Amino acid sequence: MHVATNYQDVFDHANDAIFIHDEASGAILDANRMAARITGFPVPLLRKMRVGDISARDRGCDGLGALAHIHRAVDEGPQIFEWWLRQPDGSELPTEVNLKRIITDGHPRVIALVRDIRDRKQAEERLVAREAYYRRLIANISDGIAILDRCGVVRWVGPSIRKVLGFREREVRGRSIFSRIDQEDAARLAGQLEALARSEGGEANFCCRIQHRDGSWRIHEGSCVNLLEDDCVGGLLVTFRDVTSRIEAEERVRQRDLELSHMARLSTTGEMASALAHELNQPFFAIMNFVGGAVRRAQAGRLDGDALLEVLENTKVQAERAGRIIRTVRNFTRKSSYHRETVDIRKIIEEIAPFIEIEARSRRIRVRYRLLREPALVDCDWVLIEQVIANIARNGIEAMSDTSQELRQLTIATHLTAAGTVNVSIEDRGHGLPRANPDRIFDAFFTTKKEGLGIGLSLCRSIVDSHGGHLWATQGGGGGAKFHFSLPLASGDAHV
Ligand code: ADP
Repeated sequence: MHVATNYQDVFDHANDAIFIHDEASGAILDANRMAARITGFPVPLLRKMRVGDISARDRGCDGLGALAHIHRAVDEGPQIFEWWLRQPDGSELPTEVNLKRIITDGHPRVIALVRDIRDRKQAEERLVAREAYYRRLIANISDGIAILDRCGVVRWVGPSIRKVLGFREREVRGRSIFSRIDQEDAARLAGQLEALARSEGGEANFCCRIQHRDGSWRIHEGSCVNLLEDDCVGGLLVTFRDVTSRIEAEERVRQRDLELSHMARLSTTGEMASALAHELNQPFFAIMNFVGGAVRRAQAGRLDGDALLEVLENTKVQAERAGRIIRTVRNFTRKSSYHRETVDIRKIIEEIAPFIEIEARSRRIRVRYRLLREPALVDCDWVLIEQVIANIARNGIEAMSDTSQELRQLTIATHLTAAGTVNVSIEDRGHGLPRANPDRIFDAFFTTKKEGLGIGLSLCRSIVDSHGGHLWATQGGGGGAKFHFSLPLASGDAHV
């Protein structure tokens, strides 16, 4: 069936505005209904108007410009461009114009298809504004931010790199991060990146030394997210910040703790002099007895080889005992440099136990241990944690001076918590904590003792804090005090 096409109807009802122009003068020869709708002028009026009359001049759209486009469509072929219309009420409308030369009724004309692109324009503007917003955010961020490929080559870097590491963006782009990372850290970081690149969406934290443009080495902490499969990013997104001053400050605090701790140890041993004298007296007294007895028996001619051997063996045992006591004290007072290692908390307690027991024995106090059956590993400075235990234990021992002898007992216990820490508690049966505001005991220089310095507990708290743990005190079950401190389990040992 042949359907007669009525081109006038198609023209009138088209969804785009259509203008027919004279190719030489640019005059509007005809326009459709949509043209009337988007310009705001009725078709008969449009036929008498010029393009300049319906265009937004202040946006650079005027009659001359329109004519130039029309002539280009004639000379060079179809033209597509954006054009701003101006409606009778003054409002402006963005459009996309498609110009093409055609021959109708034997006359050369230029036909303009004009489409309202207000929605598209608004969406574009929103996009541009959003981009500007994110650009500003990234420009003002103080952390470093970069996108790396899976081998660590910088594909993009934020302008903050200037503040963070002194470089311009272009000095870093296209280069491997490893050229400025400390060798030892670089090996570790390369392993981390490789593992991360294999886990889509995965995240990893890192800490490494990076050389600043000025040549100084700075410590950086940061995180890296695998967005290799993400269409927008397509790389490993890294943010990092310079934490050198924080780490150096922490190091200074640790050094100070170490020095204070050493002083406290020396003063502890000084205060323990009488207990030590008593402790050492026993093996020396025994040695005197053995030797004295042997001399008497030799004088009486009653010392045969076997008897002499027995005396010498006994003497040796006692000399060794005295040696052990001296070694314990020497170990306790040794000056140690700051050194973190992964150790079983039970080992630390076992090492300090003989020292605590010297004083406990001299005051007729029993020391009980309730330690975990399995190892509990913590990253700590062995010497400092020993110091904490020894300090608290000594306080407990001193607090029991008025406790009746059969009740005197110090209990040292360890247990694991659901929070991934190991807790150490030291409980005595002494006079208990001060009733008013008991937390004061942790203040520096707070003491209720005549000869007290009041730095022991404040030092203990700062040592435990620097290990990421907590130290606190409660009333003990037997009326005395119970001190607790927690330490995070070494990573990989959070087996609760
Ligand atoms: P010092 O032992 O020199 O006084 P500390 O900082 O070790 O310094 O202790 C501060 C104060 O805390 C002690 O003087 C005492 O009042 C209180 N205290 C510490 N341990 C105990 C305890 N086990 N029982 C009761 N009070 C305690």
